[in-house]
Amino acid sequence: MIKENIEAINRNKDEIAGKVGGRPGEVLLVAVTKTRMVDEINEAIDAGITDIGENKVQEIMDKFEAVKPVRWHMIGHLQRNKVKYIIDKVSMIHSVDSFKLAEEIDRRAAQHGAGMDILVQVNAAREESKFGITTEETGKLIEDIVKHCPNIRIRGLMCIAPFEDNQEDVRVYFREVKALYDKYALLSHPKMDFKYLSMGMSHDYEAAILEGSNLIRVGTAIFGERNNNKQV
Ligand SMILES: *Cc1c(COP(=O)(O)O)cnc(C)c1O
Repeated sequence: MIKENIEAINRNKDEIAGKVGGRPGEVLLVAVTKTRMVDEINEAIDAGITDIGENKVQEIMDKFEAVKPVRWHMIGHLQRNKVKYIIDKVSMIHSVDSFKLAEEIDRRAAQHGAGMDILVQVNAAREESKFGITTEETGKLIEDIVKHCPNIRIRGLMCIAPFEDNQEDVRVYFREVKALYDKYALLSHPKMDFKYLSMGMSHDYEAAILEGSNLIRVGTAIFGERNNNKQV
C-alpha cells in the first residue's frame, strides 16, 4: 500500500499545484517516518521518496544507518543539547524558532565543517501548544541569524496549522505565512536563499498547496495511522 499511497499523493499534489499555476514536481513530498520501522521507510524510498522527515533526534540516530540513502529533514522541536547528534545527518532543520537554537546549530555546523540549511518555524495561529514564533517576531529572528550565524543558510519558512475538520478554516494561516515568505524571498543575500515553504500534512496539504506551499510533510496518508505507543 505504501507505493500506491505515494503514487496517489504525487498525482494529487501535482493536480492541486496545477490549479494555482504550479508545474508538476514543483511541490516536494517529504515522507514523515516517525514511529515507522526501517523496512517501511526503505519501501517508501524504493517507491521514489527522496526526502524523509523525523521529529525526534533519537529516532534519527536509531534509524540512520539502516535506512537507504535519502535526504533527512528534522521537522520536530529541537533541543539545543541535541543539535550535535544530527548536525552530520540531516539536510535541513525545519523547526528553528529561537536565536539560541540557531547559534547552537551555527556552532555545530562550523565544527562539522559544513553549512546547515534551516527553515524558521512560524506559529501563525499563535497556538499555545505549538512551537514556533509569531509572524511579528519572524523578521527579527531572520535578521539576527543572517547577521550572526555564518554557517546557516535560511531556506524559507515552516508552519504547522491548527487541526480543523474543514481545511478551508486553516487557509487563512497558510496565506499569512505565504505572504511573509514572499516578502523575504525577494531579498537576496548569500545566507538567505528562500526556496522552501514547508506547509501541509496528511489532512491539510491540499489547502496548503492552494495557498502556495511547495513542501508538504506527509506521514499518515503514506504509511497509515500511527500507533503512538509503539517503540521504535
Ligand atoms: C507528524 C508530523 C507530520 C505528518 O503528520 P501526518 O498527519 O501523519 O501527515 C508533519 N509535520 C510534523 C512537524 C509532524 O510532526
